[in-house]
Amino acid sequence: MKRLAILGCTGSIGQSTLSIVEQFPDRFSVASLAAGRNLDEAYAQAVRWRPRMVSLATEELAAQLSARLRQAGVSGVNVVHGTAGTVACATLPEADFVVSAIVGVAGLEATHAAILAGKPVGLANKECMVAAGEILTAAARRLNVPILPIDSEHNAVHQCLRVGARSEVKTIWLTASGGPFRQLPLDQFAGITPEQALKHPTWVMGRRITIDSATMLNKGLEIIEACRLFDVGSRQVRVTVHPQSTVHSLVEFVDGSILAQISVTDMRLPILYALAYPERPASTLTFDLAALRRLEFEQPDFERFPCLRLAFEAAEKGGAHCIALNAADEVAVEAFLNRRIPFMGIPRTIEKVLASTPEAHPATIAEVLAADREARQRASAALE
Ligand code: MG
Repeated sequence: MKRLAILGCTGSIGQSTLSIVEQFPDRFSVASLAAGRNLDEAYAQAVRWRPRMVSLATEELAAQLSARLRQAGVSGVNVVHGTAGTVACATLPEADFVVSAIVGVAGLEATHAAILAGKPVGLANKECMVAAGEILTAAARRLNVPILPIDSEHNAVHQCLRVGARSEVKTIWLTASGGPFRQLPLDQFAGITPEQALKHPTWVMGRRITIDSATMLNKGLEIIEACRLFDVGSRQVRVTVHPQSTVHSLVEFVDGSILAQISVTDMRLPILYALAYPERPASTLTFDLAALRRLEFEQPDFERFPCLRLAFEAAEKGGAHCIALNAADEVAVEAFLNRRIPFMGIPRTIEKVLASTPEAHPATIAEVLAADREARQRASAALE
């Protein structure tokens, strides 16, 4: 029985993880849950799963949850709050495996703490790997702690890598759907509205990641994530646009063989893979091969999607540039959604911030968070 700590339990990955626990009650149970501000969902989950510990964003929300649990006659749930609460959930002695699914750098300290506590991590939070991948992977290697990617592309790569030695890998190919503007002529990019950018063709996701898919910055973050997770240089990672989103990624080996991973576009599959690794439990998430009509692969267009170029540059430099890429994008996406800047203002803002970022490699999580705050300030200043 694997007892899970689920960080980001009320978000979409957290809820999908709980649906896997529900389907495999003999394999998985819930040790702790870290939520944010969604009190109703956190309460419902605490009642349903009876974890040892639940964390909420603030002291006030934690007090409200405690009161509601008391009223309902639920005892034995330790309610905590804030970053310290999330860290406590991640490092709970009763937890055997940590699902890191808090969006943004908010989940960074808890993910780092989980690795230092020797807990295997299922990683759905790509910002953690982008901002602090050098620190997290170094700690994981030193302590021999597995990090299992839940991001669908990296999960696919992880699966493909199992068939060969690292020295036999030539190129990691990340597939990209290309987003809603894959075929839009460049001269129409200036008029893209938030409503148009929020319509993703194949995946239903949160707002920032949907905009990041439209600019392809999401793929850029995934390039950096792949470099860190699989310990390869940015020249060994390439992007191919694959509109069907059926092949989740591929690995090309030195002999010319290319292995691809195909499955339904359902996050429960990579979650199950990460939770059960190295086993493969039978599931109902089957893929209908007979319904598959075609698989297309195209070169990405770096002119219409400058975020890809910026990400490769940041991946090459590492450290502070990766932090700045992520931070500047988050600020710029918010400004785009609030109609303060046009769609192409997103890459322009990122480029400005990257240009003013000194080359540095933060050695601690505190330094990473300081560099992140500083990059956000420069992004806000660039927007004025
Ligand atoms: Mg992905």
